[in-house]
Amino acid sequence: MGTASGVANSAGEKLSCRVCAGKSLQKVLSLGSTPPANAFLKSPKDAEQFFPLELSFCNGCGFVQLANVVSPELLFRDYVYVSSTSPVFVQHFKDLSSLIIKRFSLQHGSLVVDVGSNDGILLRPFKEAGMKVLGIDPAEKIAAMATASGIETLPIFFNATAAKGLAKERGRAKVITATSVFSHVDDLDSFVSGVKELLSDDGVFVIEVYYLYELLAKNLFDTIYHEHLSYFTAKTMARLLQRLGMEMFDVGETDTHGGSLRVFAQKANGPHKVEPSVGRFTAMEDAMRLSDAKTYVEFAKKIGQNKARLKELLDGLKLMGKGIVGYGAPAKGNTLLNYFGIGPDILDYIVDDSPWKQGLYTPGTHIPVVGFGELGKRRPDYILILAWNFAEPIMKKCGGFTNFIIPVPVPQVVNSTVEEDLGSIAESIKEDAKLLEGKTVMITGGSGFIGSYIVAVIDLLNKKFLAKPCRVISLDIHITGQDSRNSLIKEIASEHISFIRHDVTFPIKIDEPVDYIISAAGVASPIYYKKFPIETIEGTIFGVKNCLELARQKNVKAVLYFSSSEIYGDPDPNFIPTPEAYKGNVSSIGERSCYDESKRIGETMCVAYFSVHKVPVKIVRPFNVYGPGMKSTDYRVIPMFLSQGLAGRELPVHDKGNQTRTFCYITDSITAFFKVLLLGRPGEVYNVGNSSEEINMLALAETINSEVFNGKAGVKLIAYPDTYPKDEPRRRCPDLSKIRKELGYEAKVSLKEGLKRAFAWLRDSSG
Ligand SMILES: [Zn+2]
Repeated sequence: MGTASGVANSAGEKLSCRVCAGKSLQKVLSLGSTPPANAFLKSPKDAEQFFPLELSFCNGCGFVQLANVVSPELLFRDYVYVSSTSPVFVQHFKDLSSLIIKRFSLQHGSLVVDVGSNDGILLRPFKEAGMKVLGIDPAEKIAAMATASGIETLPIFFNATAAKGLAKERGRAKVITATSVFSHVDDLDSFVSGVKELLSDDGVFVIEVYYLYELLAKNLFDTIYHEHLSYFTAKTMARLLQRLGMEMFDVGETDTHGGSLRVFAQKANGPHKVEPSVGRFTAMEDAMRLSDAKTYVEFAKKIGQNKARLKELLDGLKLMGKGIVGYGAPAKGNTLLNYFGIGPDILDYIVDDSPWKQGLYTPGTHIPVVGFGELGKRRPDYILILAWNFAEPIMKKCGGFTNFIIPVPVPQVVNSTVEEDLGSIAESIKEDAKLLEGKTVMITGGSGFIGSYIVAVIDLLNKKFLAKPCRVISLDIHITGQDSRNSLIKEIASEHISFIRHDVTFPIKIDEPVDYIISAAGVASPIYYKKFPIETIEGTIFGVKNCLELARQKNVKAVLYFSSSEIYGDPDPNFIPTPEAYKGNVSSIGERSCYDESKRIGETMCVAYFSVHKVPVKIVRPFNVYGPGMKSTDYRVIPMFLSQGLAGRELPVHDKGNQTRTFCYITDSITAFFKVLLLGRPGEVYNVGNSSEEINMLALAETINSEVFNGKAGVKLIAYPDTYPKDEPRRRCPDLSKIRKELGYEAKVSLKEGLKRAFAWLRDSSG
């Protein structure tokens, strides 16, 4: 790793526990030796000091701390992190200050002291609200800058001696805050004694500190670096404060840095009563075995797997000649880069929004840090988001780029088109989706085009909206969901989702309760069903029969069966737009019959199970769903046109191109499917589609040519190929009155917009 000067000896080994002062410490994790994570270099040739990065566990009280302490002079005097460069943090601290002012009824002119005040990000809103403020931060440059901008900041380390002097000089403080600094302090005895000196008897000490529980739960190993000496739980925090004559009276969680504890403390026997949150947190931590050394040994194993996976992903992309850059150069990014051995051979550069870091090189790995403008000049194919706690705003900011890699909790490639689409589906069904809280959904075809969206949406609902996660059992013969390289839209790694390889033409056995069943297995490609008519029939009929049998045994709340608009065959022009009541015009012996007729018998099977066994089954008939994730090789018309155009070929239109269809973008379709599953009436059938733009195939090709390819692809008429089944319906357009009226469904995405989104995905996902 470059010009490493070897492991320096100046790191002092920590021999006693910071919380209970006990000496029974056990090393549980090693991340090798690295330079301090904020020691950016002016030149890649600069000498660097490396220090071991190891965690030790206290057998006395369960506290987790770094095994070695690097001199704070070395870490913090030249600190370059400026909080106010992150708009998310600015808002966070504004909210915190108003919360404190309100909850503790702070009077104008009350003294508020912030320790580790950085550029005054928290004190500024206090000052604006009329408080007297004082910042303390040993980073000399940043302290001077803060003072010059109107927030008086002393460039000193806070301890008992300093506090005594300050109390005499400035009087006692009503509020002392320590956000993102408490874990940086080696001598907490002196620090907390200082707080006691400086705080008025009814004063409040507010600590925000990185939460160990989140580190474990979300696998955030990269938040371990030399500045972070201590890894607190509510339990260890309470114990420390108690030993030093203070009391934690309330505790909560905030989402900064992937999850922090917010602690409210007072002098022992202070005026505030202890809230139930204190007991609740410690009970939860005990249940999660946070005071058990084994928990940390297991965690160390998980990090090893994460390392192997990310390296494999990045090396694979490099082999394909892809350009990769990093986004964000936070301290945690440097732990990850150093421990994983990711250097300038993999990342061309790292973009960081802080001008303080631009023009410098990352410690240990020597990757140049540049400003946002560089992205436009040297376009990468993939952006590795090192500042993953800001992944959403970063993806938004990089609007012209769509491929991102998020390294934790499990490394995965994320496509921003797909992410936005999943987000908009989850948003539109979040209220109805509460019915899924704590329930289990079994889906067949869970790795197919539509199935993979349903699984990914439930995963997102679990993360963002559901109070209790919904469990998913995904059955698929392809099992693509387990392998990132084959996954249609995104890799899902969640403890709540299982992918099982199973051929649905065989009975389904599941040894746990199931509340909802979605029967989405089957083929929808005309090419496939012309070639394999018998498999098509068997797959459809046995697939639904086995779902219905399982539904009967499990006494489920609902079954959703995916039928098709194909069951209408070639509709009578008097029945276009086609309502659910139309009986269809289908041949039983034509080339499409294997598909059409088996879907029809599938519907018949559903209503038979409904009438005989009271299985609450609901049927959807989708009209041409399209969107990201549709493979160009299955010859459905939109992905076929898009991939032909992308390959620089003319868009081939069958016959005269006067057959009409309507197309429904994936976000609208999936929203409708969830609505039918959760709110539709049992035994009923619903058309799903977008009836606003019936378009013939020639016009579709011309629209794609002009809107997506700026007229450069061209369009040609060709005869039907032999591989294509005859009897193609002339017109197709749904009547959507029923789903509109009963379930309040309305398609929102226009054809032009949907085509552009589908193309953006296809362009970026093709190797
Ligand atoms: Zn201890």
